[in-house]
Amino acid sequence: MTQRVARCFCGDYSVTLEGDPMLVSSCCCTRCQRRTGSFFGVTAYFRPGQMVAQSGAEKAFRLDDATTRFRQCARCGTPVWYAPDDESWGGDILGVSGGCFADHTLPGPHRMTHAATGHPFVTSPKGVPVYPDGPPE
Ligand SMILES: [Zn+2]
Ligand SMILES: [Zn+2]
Repeated sequence: MTQRVARCFCGDYSVTLEGDPMLVSSCCCTRCQRRTGSFFGVTAYFRPGQMVAQSGAEKAFRLDDATTRFRQCARCGTPVWYAPDDESWGGDILGVSGGCFADHTLPGPHRMTHAATGHPFVTSPKGVPVYPDGPPE
């Protein structure tokens, strides 16, 4: 089965995922812009059982008003993956920063969310649905 490694900027911290993600989503919300330092975030969602290895020291971070806990490299701070502390995502799911794979075989985004707060020059690939706010239920 396909295995992909998501690695931080400095290379000290990585996680290995087996199989393809169930969903890849781009998000233009202002939190994703600030979290990534980029114009939008790309998250690849997996089942927790697909994470078959972790390597290096992590630092966990959670905003005071949110339930999502970000696992960052303890040395360089790259947010490599994240999951909620509660069932707010429907449970049994985690998100990995798409760019940390640096792997061209990773499936492209299935959707773009929070386009209303996105930069006007950011567009989605042809045929990929764009939602002004959160994802549809
Ligand atoms: Zn690092
Ligand atoms: Zn977002």
